[in-house]
Amino acid sequence: MLMTTASNAQKEAALSAGIKVANLDTTVPPKDDFYQYACGGWMKNNPLTGEYARFGSFDKLAENNRKQLRGLIEEIAVKPAAKGTVEQKIGDVYNMAMDSIRLNADGFKPIMGDLKRLGEIKNVAGIIHAMPGLVLTGLDPYFTVFVEADQMNSSVELVQTYQSGISLGQRDYYLDNDEHTKDIRDKYKAHVVKMFQLVGFTPAQAQTNMEAVMTIETRLAKAAYDKVKLRDPHANYNKMTVAELQKLVPEINWNEYLSALGLKNTRDISVSQKESLVEAGKIIATEPIAAQIAYLQWKLIDESAAYMSDPIYAQNFDFYGKTLSGKKEQQPRWKRAVGTVDGVLGEAVGQMYAKKYFPAEAKERMLKLVHNLQETLGERIKNLSWMGDSTKVKAIEKLKAFYIKIGYPDKWRDYTDLDITKDTYYANIQRANKFEHAYRFAKAGKVVDKSEWQMTPQTVNAYYNPTTNEICFPAGILQYPFFDMTADDAFNYGAIGVVIGHEMTHGFDDQGRQFDKEGNLRDWWTAQDGKKFDVRAKVMSDFFDSLVVAPGVHGNGKFTLGENIADHGGLQISFQAFKKAIINTPLENKDGFTPEQRFFLAYANVWAGNVRPEEILKRTKSDPHSLGKWRVNGALPQIQTWYEAFGIKAGDPMFVPVEKRVSIW
Ligand SMILES: [Zn+2]
Repeated sequence: MLMTTASNAQKEAALSAGIKVANLDTTVPPKDDFYQYACGGWMKNNPLTGEYARFGSFDKLAENNRKQLRGLIEEIAVKPAAKGTVEQKIGDVYNMAMDSIRLNADGFKPIMGDLKRLGEIKNVAGIIHAMPGLVLTGLDPYFTVFVEADQMNSSVELVQTYQSGISLGQRDYYLDNDEHTKDIRDKYKAHVVKMFQLVGFTPAQAQTNMEAVMTIETRLAKAAYDKVKLRDPHANYNKMTVAELQKLVPEINWNEYLSALGLKNTRDISVSQKESLVEAGKIIATEPIAAQIAYLQWKLIDESAAYMSDPIYAQNFDFYGKTLSGKKEQQPRWKRAVGTVDGVLGEAVGQMYAKKYFPAEAKERMLKLVHNLQETLGERIKNLSWMGDSTKVKAIEKLKAFYIKIGYPDKWRDYTDLDITKDTYYANIQRANKFEHAYRFAKAGKVVDKSEWQMTPQTVNAYYNPTTNEICFPAGILQYPFFDMTADDAFNYGAIGVVIGHEMTHGFDDQGRQFDKEGNLRDWWTAQDGKKFDVRAKVMSDFFDSLVVAPGVHGNGKFTLGENIADHGGLQISFQAFKKAIINTPLENKDGFTPEQRFFLAYANVWAGNVRPEEILKRTKSDPHSLGKWRVNGALPQIQTWYEAFGIKAGDPMFVPVEKRVSIW
């Protein structure tokens, strides 16, 4: 428990409010539009620059982290380093990414050999034979293969397949027929044609190739599960033997295919989306070879474009950046270069970053916050009126079993086997992908290493992983405006406290609740409690369905359900934990705000941001998180303590009647 001594109380009083009054727009009352009230000043002071489709508090912090990484990387990159050292690898990747003269002189030469080899394929056997090599170097034609914990036996790493192979990412882009989607599709077609021409194809060949790409990708899209079905873990788990898979998808010799990936002697495999993989097999067997060559070549062109010459990069940006997201200009080269180093050698730079920028006190204060929130969620579960006792016991067991990760991992990745040489920039990306796959695939059949991190320390994000029942908060997010060592508890519980509660709630959201404390996909709920949960969750999904996110476009309540439940739970848990934390040392009003008001302002400021109209449409199709505005204006009207903090009453625009509010955790 948090017993605060007198000296601590004095220290607490000396802490700042953390709230920046300039972030507010006090011309709008909180009862009318809380997001505008709390974040209007921020939005005005941080206008979108050309390179951003969305720029929010998250992005601002990521921008700051990127500058810090740049400092660390450039210090290394200017010095000579012995071959094989991490310094040599970081320096060479960065310098190659920055060398525009060489990149432009090379044009598309770095993929010429691969394009030619694909062009020489003669038959279906040749297509299948080429695929493992493409997968290992970072492409995902038709479907993808990966190794992750077995959801039914979570301590063991299992080989799995997943639907894939459509460059627009979401099936809706190929199937929907509203004006916006049709327009995107037309522009995508034009983009594919242009890209083929940029790598040496004639206009006629480029046109034919584009048509082949569209035919194959549309077939894959039709067979793909939609984004709501992808959230159902049972529908996406089909463990079978390789012999059974051989019967299900006979077009591919699976033993040979898996061996070529480095997955020799695989016995069991989970086919995440059965129908999608069956269709992939049929496509491979029936589409003309020339069409499939065009498709594979397109995967290569599309995936490598970010590492090619300026004209190729520019065309790639024109579609994915401008058309799809509404961005106006490319990121400067140094940001792209830092991004590549971060992707290829993430834990190597992460180790340097954590050492320089993550103080030990931050970890201590975070642990205190996490434990207080964990205890509070336990109390809330015990007091739930709708949940039965036997489910409560299991829920609390699961909560107590959380594996907590803060700052950076205890042991770091070994990059010895990653070879970085000065042949071409893209050849290094291909080797980095091979290195990563070899690392992951070597785990197949082995015991899951729970100490491993799924995000690098410099990442501005956090996660919950159901199969390890872990919550993770990288050093990158443990900074203002999420976390501030100099700010009081009102600020820190409102900001990072809600983030912690959010991640904890994922263990109990519509997906997470289906996994037990060991991380196994096993129902530990009584049927009655499961039904009651669904009824309460439906209030949430209906509410978000009803929100108008763009003219004529509604939110997708089912798709965003898990994240919205997590925000809701995070707010409830963190507010209660906050009140407990200050019980013996009440906080004073600061900057004209009560501690309770500061809690909610800090929360809202985490989601401050500006976003382009194109990006709103894109995210509504592809992002399971609600937009920043709705993470505030959709989430807070469900929270009684927020009404009390700001005196919001029936009849006010933000008011939602008690009986219509969400109440889960
Ligand atoms: Zn989340």
